[in-house]
Amino acid sequence: MAHAVQQLKSGDAVYYVVNQKIEPTNICVLSCKFCDFAVKQGTPQAYEMTIEEILSKLNSDVHEVHITGGLHPDWPWEYYVGMVRDIKKAFPQIDVKAFTAVEIDFFHKKFKMPIEEVLRQLYDVGLRTMPGGGAEVFSERVRKLLFNQKIGAKTWFEVHKTAHKLGIPSNSTLLYGHVETYEERVIHMMKLREAQDETGGFLSFIPLAFQPGETGIKPKNEFTSAIEDLKTIAISRLMLDNFPHIKAYWVMLTEEVASVALNFGADDMDGTVGGEKIAHDAGAISPMAMAKDKLIKIINDAGKIPVERDVYYNALNVNTDHVIGKIPYLNSVPFYKYFEQRQFKMLPIAPRRMGVLSQKGQIDAGLFSLMDYFAQEETLETMDYCIASRDQVKSVILFSKEGWQGLNEKKIGIIDDTATSVWLLQVLLEKKYGVKAQFIRMHAGINDYSQFDAVLLIGDEALKANKSGFTGFDITYDLAKEWYDWQKIPFVFAVWANKKSLPVELKLELSTIIQQSLERGKLELDIIGTLHAKSLHLTSEEAGDFLRGFNYHLGEREKEALQVFKKLIEEVEVSL
Ligand code: SF4
Repeated sequence: MAHAVQQLKSGDAVYYVVNQKIEPTNICVLSCKFCDFAVKQGTPQAYEMTIEEILSKLNSDVHEVHITGGLHPDWPWEYYVGMVRDIKKAFPQIDVKAFTAVEIDFFHKKFKMPIEEVLRQLYDVGLRTMPGGGAEVFSERVRKLLFNQKIGAKTWFEVHKTAHKLGIPSNSTLLYGHVETYEERVIHMMKLREAQDETGGFLSFIPLAFQPGETGIKPKNEFTSAIEDLKTIAISRLMLDNFPHIKAYWVMLTEEVASVALNFGADDMDGTVGGEKIAHDAGAISPMAMAKDKLIKIINDAGKIPVERDVYYNALNVNTDHVIGKIPYLNSVPFYKYFEQRQFKMLPIAPRRMGVLSQKGQIDAGLFSLMDYFAQEETLETMDYCIASRDQVKSVILFSKEGWQGLNEKKIGIIDDTATSVWLLQVLLEKKYGVKAQFIRMHAGINDYSQFDAVLLIGDEALKANKSGFTGFDITYDLAKEWYDWQKIPFVFAVWANKKSLPVELKLELSTIIQQSLERGKLELDIIGTLHAKSLHLTSEEAGDFLRGFNYHLGEREKEALQVFKKLIEEVEVSL
């Protein structure tokens, strides 16, 4: 069941990141019982890294730096801010994931700044996400037994929710396999699930198997069993249905169990994890760093697609063949519900990212955003299918504080996923209304929207916000309706296309699969609508009506619409 849920969420994709772990010091003011890493100042094992030492551990291949460590008694605030700033300055391509809620709360108390201010200052110098550590188990009983000086659930959630409010997504963990009960594990997951419903800011959940080491909590070699690890991963995939990703952290699970976990609900292998020390000081038996090639092989051997990601889970590279890109929005489900994969592998991916991967030759076919198809007409050829709106679309919406004319020279937040809708917006602004606005890209998920005068959302996020209302933005514009009222033709958002270089038999096979899948899907629009309605805050009828509002065949009118739009975009420019 967990695997089925994972397949629905991330298809055949398994994510990894080229990352480097930095633990700037092992000196810690606390003495948590389960921790074999921390020492006191003056002990022979104590170490402190300078910023130069930290920088020397990074290089241009690294995409994410993961920073956590002891709570140092003497370091000043400037050291932490300087660390993040200098990393970003020296390696702009590196995303900084740093400081657990325990560390943020420590800074808040030690430097007498509100949690929000601590996070804001770190964000301003380059912090982009937070690790999930420090959660351990949300149980006061366990906290009193094992880490009574450390923060409890209340503070942990306060820090994470504050981060989400500021547009800093974060991760979450569960440390299991010590003194906690099964009930406490489940309550832990329920608390996370509730918080995710509230903020939507968690990227992943990482069950961490306890490493007994010299902690004395369990005999030194009594690791959790593989079956217990797999069950915990599977249950977390089922319980945390609102979490995008479940991670099999191979450092603690071992490579073998992590690899099997890819069929038990996990869709993330973490990364190459250079420099990991905390788990190894506690006796983890996995190799210290896993080379990228090895990670790719493990994922390929599990029959999945190795997807190198950034800190937000945007796909950077795909390392396998026969990959079909799948836009993860309700309007494309009729194509995919009965898609018989055969030798193809399915990669759910936002439209703009699919275009980037396709440019690198890493996607063989898919439902491409129109602008990406235009940009790659030399290497891609259209198939007979598309996503075209008739009059309105309901899922490409500009939420605005102002009418069209009032948006002149104002700031519009553009959701990161879009490749075509942003151009449609520009065409409408400039050519229909004679207005010029400033576009600012926002990453998908959580954002501080208050800085914008209008916000462009697409896909399921737009559908949800259109139904529930988007606080602070009272005016909504359906861009397809704006287009239709103006041009009296449909708008084509995406077209099915394949690489021209694909072998003919593969092209034919794919075309047959899509045709058969769409025929069945179209007969079941109401069923598809009902299945997806609840998660989009729609009624079954609304979801069914939404799906009936599209044309899925690339006919003459749609082809004409493509040409009209192509001409218009030559006359405008989008800068982001
Ligand atoms: S778990 Fe963290 S806070 Fe506790 S002693 Fe170890 S390093 Fe310090």
